[in-house]
Amino acid sequence: MASETGEKIRVVVLFSGGLDSSLAVRLMQNQGLDVTALTCINAFSPELKQRRGSGARRMARQLGVPLIMHEFTDQLIKLVENPPHGYGSNMNPCVDCHCHMLKYVAGLIAEGKYHFVATGEVLGQRPMSQRKPVMMHIDKEAGLGRMVLRPLSAKCMPITIPEEKGWVDREKLKDFNGRSRKPQMQLAKEFGFREYQTPAGGCLLTDPQFAFRVKDLKEHEGLTEADVEIMKVGRYFRLSDSARIIVGRNQADNQALQVMSLPGDVRLRAASAPGPTAVLRVPADEDSQTTIAAMMTAQPCPELLTLAAELVAAHCPKLESDPTAGIRLQRGDAVRTVDVKVRQRSDFAAMRIELADKPDQKKGGRAE
Ligand code: SF4
Repeated sequence: MASETGEKIRVVVLFSGGLDSSLAVRLMQNQGLDVTALTCINAFSPELKQRRGSGARRMARQLGVPLIMHEFTDQLIKLVENPPHGYGSNMNPCVDCHCHMLKYVAGLIAEGKYHFVATGEVLGQRPMSQRKPVMMHIDKEAGLGRMVLRPLSAKCMPITIPEEKGWVDREKLKDFNGRSRKPQMQLAKEFGFREYQTPAGGCLLTDPQFAFRVKDLKEHEGLTEADVEIMKVGRYFRLSDSARIIVGRNQADNQALQVMSLPGDVRLRAASAPGPTAVLRVPADEDSQTTIAAMMTAQPCPELLTLAAELVAAHCPKLESDPTAGIRLQRGDAVRTVDVKVRQRSDFAAMRIELADKPDQKKGGRAE
């Protein structure tokens, strides 16, 4: 398909690597367009930093489309802190997040890189951001208006400019509507997709437990990318308005905490028994860092470090029957061992940042 000037029409498809956006890519390829996939990645994806976008890369290879990435953690953090359109069911500012992604694409279109954008959204699939008026509001606010095509639901939506101009044949687009995924699965079969990612319910901001941690951080120190990353592992406890500790639950957590700890963090573990690694973190500002540095050598051991050491001892199964234990604390080159009483885990339950009733993830979690 060519434009008035004879150029091949270039479409950029918002692409997560999941089934819906993969189908959108294939529908655009089948119309003879020059297709590029765009994956928007951020720290709230369930994967740890190193693996972010890997599913999209794999699927783009399978579809034979070039893939570009847009990392927008900083912008999303700002939206989580202050979402102009509010939150979805948890801490997910989906409307603003979609607006941001489409605004980014609007910039690419303004630069002449693409003629229009397509997404894998299905009308009515998500309660918040995939309702017709909301979708149209987002398109308008992003400055794209009728330049956004949703190939899977196009026949349920007003006609778009790419259809009007004859760049795409509306008759070959779909009319999927609602939460059922059967039509997508049927289409995947028709297209001969051998494997595809099972649909996720959104990023971690839609997960009630994770959102609870995000809320805690937002109300205290504020969010940073490093904090978002470390909240994906371990048990999370708040020790004071400006100090929190993350305790590994297993070997994978312990290794991840070692990698994720920052130079200003205090790492803790039992001095003479295997057990969890823990990371005590205070804000990165100069005053907080000077204070924690001084605590590493202060005598007697400051209350905050003693409390952190007691918490680690209580989570070390090998110490359960010991009355006291030595806990090793390290911050940069500074190391100290603190002898503490081995208390019950339940003594720290009130400090745990966790919802009392874990919502049923199948029924209530990870959805807008
Ligand atoms: S679930 Fe919502 S907030 Fe999270 S990445 Fe998707 S659109 Fe953005």
